[in-house]
Parts: sequence; C-alpha cells; structure tokens
Amino acid sequence: MKIGVLALQGAFIEHIHVLRAIGVEGVEVRLPADLEGLSGLILPGGESTTMRRLIDRWGMGEPIVALARRGAPIFGTCAGMIVLAREIAGGEPPILPLLDVTVERNAFGRQLDSFEAELRVPILGDQPVHGVFIRAPVITRTGPEVDILARLDDGRIVAVRERNIIATSFHPELAGETRFHRLLATMAAEHDDPGEGSGRRPHPTRRSQVER
Ligand code: GLN
Repeated sequence: MKIGVLALQGAFIEHIHVLRAIGVEGVEVRLPADLEGLSGLILPGGESTTMRRLIDRWGMGEPIVALARRGAPIFGTCAGMIVLAREIAGGEPPILPLLDVTVERNAFGRQLDSFEAELRVPILGDQPVHGVFIRAPVITRTGPEVDILARLDDGRIVAVRERNIIATSFHPELAGETRFHRLLATMAAEHDDPGEGSGRRPHPTRRSQVER
C-alpha cells in the first residue's frame, strides 16, 4: 500500500518519515500522475495561500477531489486542514472543499504564534496526543456529518473527521505521534479491500467514541 504526501510546499518530509516509521510507503506527490495507485493522501502544513496557488498551477485540484470522492482517506494537517475546508472565515474562496467545516486561519494571534498542548483524542486511545500548533487554524463550525475528534481545554475544535476525511489544526508528525497516520493507513487498507471483514469487524472509529 502506498500513501501520498502532497509535496508542493511545506512540511511534507516529516509525514514521509512517520509513514516509514509505521511501515507504510510514502510517496511525494507533485503532479496528477503521482496520484495513480495511491490508497490515501496527506495534505501537510505550510502556507495555504501558497498551496492554493501551486494546486491551481499544477492542476492538482480535480484529481485530489476525485480521489477523495472515490473514498480514499485524506488527512490534512494545519494548512492542509485549511485546504480541505468548505469555508474559510473572512471570505477567501475554498480550495478543495471536501470537509464541511468553517476554519479560521491563524486563530491564535501573534502572542500565541506557536504552542504545544496535550489533547484528549478518544478514537486514538487513552494516551493523550501531544499537539504542536504553528500559526494554526481552528474550526469554528462543523456540518452535521462531521465528528469532532479533539478540542482544546477552552472548547475550541482542533481535530475532526467526516467519513474518509480527517483534519487536525496541529502537527502530529512533528511530535513523534504516529496514531493519526496509523488510523489513515487502516482506513486506506479498508478502502483498498472493502470486502475484507465487512460486517464482522468493528469499524476503526466507533461512533460512541466521538462527539457529533
Ligand atoms: N498559517 C498557515 C496558513 O494559514 C498554516 C500554518 C501551518 O500549516 N503550520 O496557511
């Protein structure tokens, strides 16, 4: 199984390293042809305005949307979450509107440019997730099909899932955290082989573990 990492800009190499650490082949994706044969895709952090421009320039928008619509899992971190949001607060047009949320860019302002926080993410187990936030966005609205996976202590939403799309405000790949990538790989394996175990095995995300 191969999982792609959009490598137009930003912190893509760290995702390749995490994939390698969990025994999954990570492929740098720069052109539509690079998406062929992939079981899932990661949209890394970086700068979403630059990513928007490069996604347009290299014609990556339609093929990524098509991959997602076929059910392949997609994981966006930080700027990658902004790329996936159906709505960007402040009126910027959406980029690849695959996730029914509104995001606010740079939501923590200048004083709190970067910080780290321990997060409870029940679908990943009891051990907290160490989240690295760098000029991070937050989610200010979630659509009816969106599961909330994590909040900050003040209640702000920083991780969500809508069917095959996962997004985090923070960077798990910068903190030695591998569980989001493992979840993605599990979803990718199920996407590749939907028959296997269906009806017999519980889905990796149990509904009872997430907020709606
Ligand atoms: N602030 C960036 C943006 O708005 C995101 C930062 C990140 O990905 N670490 O695109």
